[in-house]
Amino acid sequence: MRVAKDAVVSIDYTLIDDAGSVIDSSQGRAPLAYVHGRGQLVPGLEAALAGRVSGDQVTVTVPPAEGYGERDSGLVVAATRAQFTGVDHLEVGMQFQASEDGGPKLLTIVAIEGDTVRLDANHPLAGMALTFDVRIVGVRAATPEELAHGHVHDGDDHHH
Ligand code: ZN
Repeated sequence: MRVAKDAVVSIDYTLIDDAGSVIDSSQGRAPLAYVHGRGQLVPGLEAALAGRVSGDQVTVTVPPAEGYGERDSGLVVAATRAQFTGVDHLEVGMQFQASEDGGPKLLTIVAIEGDTVRLDANHPLAGMALTFDVRIVGVRAATPEELAHGHVHDGDDHHH
């Protein structure tokens, strides 16, 4: 069958940033399985895979708007050291999970100036054109249970 909404698609993939460096890859791991058409992949990648079949090789470069979004400088916020209760040592690059109205958000420390800690809530890959090298290794219909749960049930990363 072809990749279409609610198909379970398994892919081997390599993700390359705009400088040509490999950021992530399924090499040496089980393929990534996802339910197509539910926003589980970035929009530009989902669009590139639609209509393909098992065995297809797809290379697509996705602009930020179709990937993890443009960087928003308004998402860099200042906090004070005192707000990090229970954290002994703060350093640039540390990441924290914050819960907000829109769901959990990942904040990355981008600068520490005296008592001020600057946090960036942009996705680490925001603002980047990303190239995905993908091989489709399986396409099948989702089971009713998978559709109800919104995720695949034969992967390594099945959580409830
Ligand atoms: Zn489930």
